[in-house]
Amino acid sequence: MDACEAADALWEEHGNDCGIISIGQAGENLVRFSLALVDKTATLGRGGLGAVFGAKKLKAIVVSGSGGVSVADAKGFLEIVEGLYERLRRYPLRDACVDLGIMSNWENYVKQFFTPDLQEKVAKLYGVETYKKVKKMRVACPSCFIADKDVLEIRDGAFAGLITYASSFFNATLFSKFTDDYREALKLTDMLNRYGLCLLTFSSLADFLIRIYENGIVRKEDMDGMKLRRDFSTLAGLIEKITFRRGVGNVLADGWTAVFQKFDAERQAAVVKGKDCLWDPRLSGLGTMEFEQIVCPRGPTSATGGSPTYVPGTPPEAFRRHCERMDAPGDAIERILAAGLNIGRLTRYAEDWYAVLSSLGICNRHMNNRFYSAKICAELYSKATGVKISAAELMRAAEQAWNVFKAVNVREGSTRAHDKIPEHWFEPLRFEGGVATLMDYYRTKELSKDDLGKMLDDYYDERGWDVKKGVPTKQKLLELGLDDIAEDLERMGE
Ligand code: SF4
Repeated sequence: MDACEAADALWEEHGNDCGIISIGQAGENLVRFSLALVDKTATLGRGGLGAVFGAKKLKAIVVSGSGGVSVADAKGFLEIVEGLYERLRRYPLRDACVDLGIMSNWENYVKQFFTPDLQEKVAKLYGVETYKKVKKMRVACPSCFIADKDVLEIRDGAFAGLITYASSFFNATLFSKFTDDYREALKLTDMLNRYGLCLLTFSSLADFLIRIYENGIVRKEDMDGMKLRRDFSTLAGLIEKITFRRGVGNVLADGWTAVFQKFDAERQAAVVKGKDCLWDPRLSGLGTMEFEQIVCPRGPTSATGGSPTYVPGTPPEAFRRHCERMDAPGDAIERILAAGLNIGRLTRYAEDWYAVLSSLGICNRHMNNRFYSAKICAELYSKATGVKISAAELMRAAEQAWNVFKAVNVREGSTRAHDKIPEHWFEPLRFEGGVATLMDYYRTKELSKDDLGKMLDDYYDERGWDVKKGVPTKQKLLELGLDDIAEDLERMGE
């Protein structure tokens, strides 16, 4: 069964009020970029969780609950919630979010993911009007006004009648690099979800393979006689090959490291710690999300380095307010804002802020997290649990979490060398009518490898880590009360 069939069969058996995490055939076949689906809709992607399930011969987890959640101070908790709702009701973009979900942010997305020569065409073929045509309904986490998960229906053409679930329609638009027909893009999205393959990694890998095929690094013979074209049948063929490890698909299924061993073209893709980058700073400028792809212990992810750099050209004052919301110390805020915007230093606080939100189960999407501050989070935590905690203590817990997260990698041999700056970013990105190069967030200057090296220095310094090695120092770990981890790393010679 694929991931959706498995979920349907389990709902049939256990009733449809339970939650289900399931994998498809890609996870069963241990594809390195397989994922698990939550209730057919949300993805637990980027990191091969599907293969972890597959290795354990675990097809699905079914969860059902009874009873409720007790809240220590329900009245106080609801007062804070009411304050949040009140601000939400006044949010000028609220109606657009309710109407279009994250497609309300379409204009930014187009700039972040497509070269200027393609933006108009992509908007015409895949933009908001197309979304309205295929939108059947949206699905939200409890209490969310955005509801970014989509149920989509193809209403005409060869795939008419296909109803597919997606973590967002926007992801399907990435296939506009391969097909002008959004229906084909949705069919590919459906195949990937059902088999349980990460759409983001698959579309990067397919783009990379076709590019190196076009310039002769890969030949037809290397692809089991398959010609690589920018079309639906090439992509559908690759999905099948990878999922079932057929022919060259057996190599591709082992991910980027295996691909680079077979095809000598590492400079032609931005890959860090074996994972492809999602954000291309040559298009968007180097903000925290782009930089985070280098330093995140998990490799490039879509969310862990979020900050107002998400929107191009945000003024410095907005970063000051954001730093204050994250309860960053005053001297750190001055370091971040000195001489423009220090992305390396800001990223440290963006990560800790992400750790707070994710640990509390608060959505990290910028349209949601803008309503919260470390103070509000600490108050919610205190009222919910009855355990009093201040904003500073909460942020310290986040810093502890990130240090443990990093220490796990250090234990496995990770050093500064693993926080590798992708060579690919220094290749000019040529498109019809122009060229894009690696620029700073405000797009005032081109960045060199030395500039990125300095950003890494600043990041480690702001974390209080060893700048040369890029790992937590003993002093920092002891300061955070992580004595056992400090001892472990010291034993290992770190
Ligand atoms: S809470 Fe976040 S992840 Fe959940 S539906 Fe809303 S935007 Fe999406």
